Amino acid sequence: MSETDTIFGKIIRREIPADIVYEDNLALAFRDVNPQAPVHILVIPKEPIAKLADAESQNHALMGHLLLTVKRVAEQEGLANGYRVVINNGEDGGQTVPHLHLHILGGRPLAWPPG
Ligand code: C5P
Repeated sequence: MSETDTIFGKIIRREIPADIVYEDNLALAFRDVNPQAPVHILVIPKEPIAKLADAESQNHALMGHLLLTVKRVAEQEGLANGYRVVINNGEDGGQTVPHLHLHILGGRPLAWPPG
C-alpha cells in the first residue's frame, strides 16, 4: 500500500477515462465502474494519500474538504432520502486501490451491517 500512483492518479491526470461528476483544486468525484447501488460515486483527494491511516495532521483541512465534497455531490445527485459514506482502509478493510477514496452509496435502502 506504499505505492502512491494508482489507477486513480491516472484518472486525475485524464490518462484513463472516468465519469467525473465534480472537480475542484483539491478533490475529484467520479462514478464507480462497478456500482453497488444506483448511485455509487468515489470522492478522492488529488493528493495521493494511500489510505486514511496515512493521513497526517497537515491534511486536516483536506479531510474536512473531502467530507463536505461528499455532501455536495450527494445533494447534486438528489440523494435527499439518505446515503452511506464508506472508507475502506487497508487489507482487512477491503481496500483494493491504494489512493484514499470515500464511497458514496445511495439510491436504494442499504442494509446494515456490511459484510
Ligand atoms: O474501497 P476499495 O478500494 O475496495 O474500492 C475501490 C473501488 O474503485 C471499487 O469500488 C472499484 O469498482 C472502483 N474502481 C473504479 N474505477 C477503476 C478502478 C476501480 O471505479 N478504474
